[in-house]
Amino acid sequence: MSTTVDPGLHKEIGCFGCDDITQCINCGNCTAVCSLSGEDAVFPRKTIRYAQLGIKDRLMESVEPWLCYYCGECSETCPRQANPGEIMMTLRRWLTAQYDWTGLSKKLYLSKTWEVFALAALAAFVVALFVFFHGPMVTDRVELNTFAPVVWVEIGDWVMALLLSSFLFTNVLRMHRYVMGSWLPSRIPFSIYLRELKTLVLHAMTQKRWKDCDNLSRWIKHLLLVTGYVTMLLLIVVFLRWFQTDGSQWRPIDLLGYYATGVLMFVTGEMIVSRLRRREEIHKHSHSTDWIFLVLLFLTALTGILVHGLRLAGLPLPTYYMYVLHLAIAVPMLVIEVPFGKWSHLAYRPLAIYLTNVKKQFEHSSQTANAAMPTVASPNY
Ligand code: SF4
Ligand code: SF4
Repeated sequence: MSTTVDPGLHKEIGCFGCDDITQCINCGNCTAVCSLSGEDAVFPRKTIRYAQLGIKDRLMESVEPWLCYYCGECSETCPRQANPGEIMMTLRRWLTAQYDWTGLSKKLYLSKTWEVFALAALAAFVVALFVFFHGPMVTDRVELNTFAPVVWVEIGDWVMALLLSSFLFTNVLRMHRYVMGSWLPSRIPFSIYLRELKTLVLHAMTQKRWKDCDNLSRWIKHLLLVTGYVTMLLLIVVFLRWFQTDGSQWRPIDLLGYYATGVLMFVTGEMIVSRLRRREEIHKHSHSTDWIFLVLLFLTALTGILVHGLRLAGLPLPTYYMYVLHLAIAVPMLVIEVPFGKWSHLAYRPLAIYLTNVKKQFEHSSQTANAAMPTVASPNY
């Protein structure tokens, strides 16, 4: 198999966040200290070496950047201060841009102007929809469903969910093609893919490998965050007609909203403070997209609970305006982050573990089959 070498690759990758990759001297210290590096996937030294040498094909089929959970231990012990943890983070951004066929992800990661413009344009679109198409504004009591009929908001939710899932799914297919490309996937029995599906679901739901990264509290916070936004997504995509109701009465379903809001605000707030303090290795380096994602998630939760509070307080106009603001933050965040930005790691990480296991199972079954083959004695001449 021929390998194409791109001497400018390390510079291209560097634009996605990390400092100079060439500082690494390949001593291997980082791989030795990494608790997640093992027989199935050896990193980060080898992955960094591919980037230094410009072996793009190897990097594209590499799952290792997704198997790193950025504990920062390797960066703390690197003798060259090459910051391997941040290099792996940068590689995740670079790979996200490679998987994305639209090219938007690359633009958003490489240009703050592009990201701010895209978010602002989407926010303006949401506001314009309300300016031109909102329902009657009842002002003597809160009637959110008259101002923004739930059936229309629901249709908008479904269209957006379908669109974003399609983008993400096609990018996931591209990741599969790159990772399994040299493995002739047609030779791998479909039953192995099916058998390993449990791995995909388990890691998508729990990201449990993080526990092995010696940072239990970070894993718990991340797990809480997942439960928070899954609850919120269910409330707005599946149960909206029960969640968005009129009047100033309190309903039991609000408890789910409180949980989701509390978790989202607590965890994102804590992450923002940690990034501002820059004490731990993982919080010392923040890309502009890290900030934008955290701030938007925090503001989405904050404006959501403010809509609820204003509705309970019986303030019609502030409720309607806050509702528009809430959607003008939430919609751009979802459109940008789910298929093209940071949130896409929720699909790529478990898929990386899944494909690694599929390969391993295939190798194992091939070895077992070979061992079971009767040995044919060589004829004596
Ligand atoms: S990143 Fe640092 S620890 Fe890892 S191989 Fe390079 S120089 Fe060594
Ligand atoms: S940041 Fe942690 S998990 Fe990632 S490569 Fe370094 S030691 Fe391993």
